[in-house]
Amino acid sequence: MANKIKLEYIWLDGYQPTQTLRSKTKILDGEAFTGKVDDCPIWSFDGSSTEQALGGSSDCLLKPVYICDDPSRSNGYLVMCEVLNADHQPHASNGRATIDDQDKDFWFGFEQEYFLWDPTTNLPLGFPENGFPSPQGPYYCGVGAKRAYGREIVEEHLDLCLEAGLNIEGVNAEVAAGQWEFQIFAKGAQAAGDQIWVARFLLERTAESYGVSVNWECKPLGDTDWNGSGMHANFSNAVLRKGGSKEIFDEICNKFGTEEAIKNCIAVYGADNDKRLTGKHETQSIDKFSYGISDRGASIRIPLGVVENGWKGYVEDRRPNSAADPYKVAAVIIHTVKY
Ligand code: ADP
Ligand code: MN
Ligand code: MN
Ligand code: MN
Repeated sequence: MANKIKLEYIWLDGYQPTQTLRSKTKILDGEAFTGKVDDCPIWSFDGSSTEQALGGSSDCLLKPVYICDDPSRSNGYLVMCEVLNADHQPHASNGRATIDDQDKDFWFGFEQEYFLWDPTTNLPLGFPENGFPSPQGPYYCGVGAKRAYGREIVEEHLDLCLEAGLNIEGVNAEVAAGQWEFQIFAKGAQAAGDQIWVARFLLERTAESYGVSVNWECKPLGDTDWNGSGMHANFSNAVLRKGGSKEIFDEICNKFGTEEAIKNCIAVYGADNDKRLTGKHETQSIDKFSYGISDRGASIRIPLGVVENGWKGYVEDRRPNSAADPYKVAAVIIHTVKY
């Protein structure tokens, strides 16, 4: 190990309704450091500056839970942390601690959509200062200077995720101009959430170096004919993976259709989701619940491949939006399936 190492401690603040990323650097002596999360000490921060504490008693704790290489820094690591209160109990803003998946039975693949955003015009990349680019249609998986905006950022982000060791599975240009997606899969709900948050951090930091920001809002262009952004949650447990019959899938999907489940899910599926889940643009409306094979207008889609594979695999909850916290999304899905 190098003489000194740089640990970037990353956590979620207490902003509502959408928590945002915070980070700061800790320098450690490299001699005894093995690169494991257990070698990262608990640290503290000023919770009164992040809406997590009051000024009179401001210290909150950072408990390292996931570590990977920081490809942008020599001798650097990215350290995802949970926030604890001074008494070492999980802070109210800590969604990760609410995940009930000790046996890592649940696998998650999140499809994270987002807009690359020009902070000076306050518009997506590719949007002229006045008026609009040509209507959506050619942008999805498009190529060329009139279709793909910000690809250099997407490429750099993809490489950084791979170098960091995240299990990123793909990227694609999305339906609106300046809109993109990446997918991350992990076995274990906490691991999936950790990796999504670290990938979001890497995207913010990469875009920042280009003077571009990332817009995670689910409907940043308002009530227009431009798509919103989702974070589809593909999930499975051993029961769905072993599968074998339609009834197994029906039983789990129907658990999501009760009034209580709908309420619990929508509460954490991201701010302003009523603006996105309208029944248009490949969504089901927020006040309806449905599931169906290959149905991109349903709340939950059963992929066609699952049926063809003898009813084995996973389902896709299409309702979570781009701004949702993957920890909280995973927690509510697991709760709904288990109870
Ligand atoms: P689409 O855009 O058609 O909805 P994507 O290919 O973008 O599909 O995303 C599908 C996601 O499903 C991927 O993130 C993948 O990791 C995930 N996935 C595949 N198999 C499973 C599984 N058994 N359990 C959970 N997620 C899965
Ligand atoms: Mn996708
Ligand atoms: Mn998509
Ligand atoms: Mn999808």
